[in-house]
Amino acid sequence: VGRDGAEDVARSVAELAARIPDQLAPLARLAFNYRWSWTPGGPELFRGIDPDRFALCRENPVRLLLEAHPGRLQEAARDGGLVHRAGQLAAALDAELARPPDDEVVAADSPVAFLCAEFGIHESLPIYSGGLGVLAGDILKEASDRRIPFVGVGLMYANGQFHQRLDPYGWQHDYWIPSDPERLPATLVTGDGGGPLTVTLPIRGRDVVAQVWRVAVGRVPLFLLDANRPENGILDRWITSRLYVGDRTTRLAQYALLGIGGIRALRAMGIDAGVVHVNEGHAAFATLELIRELATVGDGFGEALEEARSRTVFTTHTPVAAGNESYQLDEVDGVLGKLFAEMGAEREQLLGLGRIRPDDPGDALGMTVLGLRASRSANAVSRRHGEVARSMWQPLYPGASEADVPIGHVTNGVHLPTWMATPMRRLLDRHLGRDWTENPGDPRAWERIDDIPDQEVWETRCRLRAELVAWLRERAVMDRLAREEPSSYVEAAIEAFDPDALTLGFARRVAAYKRLDLLIREPERVAALLSGPEPVQVVLAGKAHPQDDEAKRRLQHLFEMKWTPRVGSRVAYVEDYDMTVAAHLVSGCDVWINLPRPPLEASGTSGMKAGLNGALNLSILDGWWAEAFDPQSERPSGWGIDGSEPADPEREDQRDAAAFYDLLEREVIPLFFDRDEHGVPTGWVQRMKASLRTVGSQFTATRMVRDYLAGPYRTD
Ligand SMILES: *Cc1c(COP(=O)(O)O)cnc(C)c1O
Repeated sequence: VGRDGAEDVARSVAELAARIPDQLAPLARLAFNYRWSWTPGGPELFRGIDPDRFALCRENPVRLLLEAHPGRLQEAARDGGLVHRAGQLAAALDAELARPPDDEVVAADSPVAFLCAEFGIHESLPIYSGGLGVLAGDILKEASDRRIPFVGVGLMYANGQFHQRLDPYGWQHDYWIPSDPERLPATLVTGDGGGPLTVTLPIRGRDVVAQVWRVAVGRVPLFLLDANRPENGILDRWITSRLYVGDRTTRLAQYALLGIGGIRALRAMGIDAGVVHVNEGHAAFATLELIRELATVGDGFGEALEEARSRTVFTTHTPVAAGNESYQLDEVDGVLGKLFAEMGAEREQLLGLGRIRPDDPGDALGMTVLGLRASRSANAVSRRHGEVARSMWQPLYPGASEADVPIGHVTNGVHLPTWMATPMRRLLDRHLGRDWTENPGDPRAWERIDDIPDQEVWETRCRLRAELVAWLRERAVMDRLAREEPSSYVEAAIEAFDPDALTLGFARRVAAYKRLDLLIREPERVAALLSGPEPVQVVLAGKAHPQDDEAKRRLQHLFEMKWTPRVGSRVAYVEDYDMTVAAHLVSGCDVWINLPRPPLEASGTSGMKAGLNGALNLSILDGWWAEAFDPQSERPSGWGIDGSEPADPEREDQRDAAAFYDLLEREVIPLFFDRDEHGVPTGWVQRMKASLRTVGSQFTATRMVRDYLAGPYRTD
């Protein structure tokens, strides 16, 4: 008791409160718990103190309070309204933290420990890269809202995720910004002597020491291991430098620290995890540590494995090969050799767990294979991905038919309070009845959506689009200035983008299977689209992996489109896609496009975020959309493109690009501009309502967490 950093966070709050005017003390409490970021009025409160500095701090409220000019803080302290709101929000936070846990499935003293290499909690905590991290963040937030006993375990990266800057030729340059944990809403967990609590494990033949940061995500603590310790040499400190560092042995060292170090850190803090949720293969070494722990107290290997399995739940997130890493024996020995040596006779058996053919020493160690073998429950992240994963991993289960492969699915969902923009939230608050967000997974909550006047729905949509356009103009001007683009092209952005134009959004990691380039496969159709009688505009965003030159070339190719007539004023490529960019795009776009090569999109979650804001999805029927969209429905919620697996990918690309443009020209554009006498596109609004209802009732994190509780987390 008292070793898990809760008191350390309280001390950080007190220290921050001592540095700001007394009246603002409640802000210190709010700043150290990310709950503010999904509480209505929370972001506005901090922004109200100093909007420019808040933006400069990447909306990190601790930095804001540390760095704001004293005069600004004095002014805020004299602002009765602001002080009152701060007090209210702090009281609401305290009440939330004091509520009893929901321990129906997960006991309060043995929480779910959720291990993941990345967490997308908020823009100010740069320890995520994309969909996997944002999903992990959404799960923690939802577990907090539902009061489930839960802790997160990850890594504190000194430089976090890379940022993207394009040069005037459209070539992507990558750079990193130090994340400076001292100024984050994060606190070092202290140990017995009052110094930082540490764990030690042998990696690459050396003892590596890691300290642990605690970040409060509502009721849920997130523990982040950090190798930036004076005991470690520079190479070992680099282990937690960057997310998914390029060098293979360093990356393997990251996975060792996350999995093995993560379990050791929980033990050191006195946290007894009832369920260890290994979220994606990166964290799968946790299972080795669980086995080691049990085997060294006398259980035989077989018993230790069974016991470890009975506590472990595994989720696989992608069928793409690069996302299912494997390592050769010499690589594994180089990083984990000393640890295996400590385990003695079990080494071969442990290694076998990670091989497709356990007895073949030539077989590489697969992180996903290890996760699947050493867990009691394994799941994919959409219904279709479940089918794909069962077929993909069938060789692990000789004798089992594909249908009998023990991999189920829990379809992803997104955290509604994080991703639904305020105007849409207000609209639904007015019409769905009080407390509708208490259970958005209940379809009855959504029945009343049909009663909302079309005019109001449409006004909300137009307002969200107008907000996007205002933001986009500024951002596009800044991006173009920074690239030193010709002044005519810079100036085009000032007046560019039309608040009334049909706005298409397409934001993706630039990975080959996401097929960003399908958009420009038919250049004449792009040109026709942008210069037709009805105004249409396109917003793009996405980063290529730093080592992926092929993806960078694709991006550059896309970028060359800017010389096409009208593109300068009708197409925006927003640099450095992150959670803030995503929030603007998913709330402001009318249509959200996704053209992955089936069946490689395991789920996709940005389309759910867009759906929560009344955008319509136009997507290949793959991942979540194959589950959400019913082509036969009388009340379609968007548009789907055939998602059958291609026999000949090249031909199929052509077919899908054509289908995409056909849909745009024949259905999407006409429907959007078909207005009644009040200027409302009633057919469009009908689809919006159908989409809001489907996404809201089936694709929120509320439904997802409920599914995890009903399935994988259940122990009886
Ligand atoms: C939601 C999100 C993603 C995931 O989007 P996909 O639909 O899976 O491509 C990626 N990056 C950011 C910043 C997000 O917010």
